[in-house]
Amino acid sequence: MNNVLAVDIGGTHFRVGLFDEQGRRLLVHDGDTDRAAGREWMLGQLAAHCRELLANTDAPVKACGVSFGGPVDFSRRRVTSLHAPGWEGFELGKWFEQTLGIPCRLDNDANAGALGEFHFGAGRAAKLLVYVTISTGLGSGVVCDGKLLRGRDGMAGELGHIPVSEFGARCSCGARGCLETFCSGGALETRMREWAERRPDRGGRVVELSGGHHITAEGVMRAAAEGDAAAAHVVRETTRWLAHGLLMVIRILNPDLIVLGGGVAQSGAPLLDNLRSFLEELASRPITYSTEIVTAALGSYSALYGAAALGLEVT
Ligand SMILES: [Zn+2]
Repeated sequence: MNNVLAVDIGGTHFRVGLFDEQGRRLLVHDGDTDRAAGREWMLGQLAAHCRELLANTDAPVKACGVSFGGPVDFSRRRVTSLHAPGWEGFELGKWFEQTLGIPCRLDNDANAGALGEFHFGAGRAAKLLVYVTISTGLGSGVVCDGKLLRGRDGMAGELGHIPVSEFGARCSCGARGCLETFCSGGALETRMREWAERRPDRGGRVVELSGGHHITAEGVMRAAAEGDAAAAHVVRETTRWLAHGLLMVIRILNPDLIVLGGGVAQSGAPLLDNLRSFLEELASRPITYSTEIVTAALGSYSALYGAAALGLEVT
């Protein structure tokens, strides 16, 4: 019986897990990412925790699957992210192989999340599944007939970077008006900050729920859930853009299932409550659809399970 290692590297957390051939989680280590400490610190943590898990299993570990929270070049197994200083161009797949001595497969967190939910989560019976992750940014992955849809350049499913308004803000990708600038954790924070600047008397509860210093997406979501009018308004605006984005997905792909993951979607009863009514409002009577929209069954572990699935693909 062969096990696999799974690694999920995110901007705020990282996880290292050991899974069996059926995708059952045997051991896992959760840690906080120290962004300021940089790449070498992160690699040191990953090496130490991977070795610890390898020392704790008697079964052979045949491969390692890695999810990275940012763009990667799947075929060259390297990070292409511009947002994570020190990582751009880094051959992360090769580094794992050299460090651990086992084959490694690398993908971005949205693709990994899609694979995780398809194999082990909400989407097990879906022929066509779209996973949309809403955290700091907005990403998506498409699984069709059990395989990730990558496209010619490996860039299929970049839902967050579809231009939805030429008058929008400059996106982290350099373009203007991407969906991510309207609908993401970052967009929630920006919109709430603008609101608080206009109405300093109204932002207090959000700052309090954000930990007392500055506005966070989680603080906005929690304040909206409590009934704070300003936060609820900001969440509604963001959800309206999400409805537009999901309708584009539905119109183009007509998937069986859309799975919503990531921190904002997970914390978001107010977001999900609004979503259905916006979708109804945008609906067309002759162009119907039965696509189901659900939240991720694996919670914040979708990408780690997906990393395990990537490892299990290595034969
Ligand atoms: Zn963009």
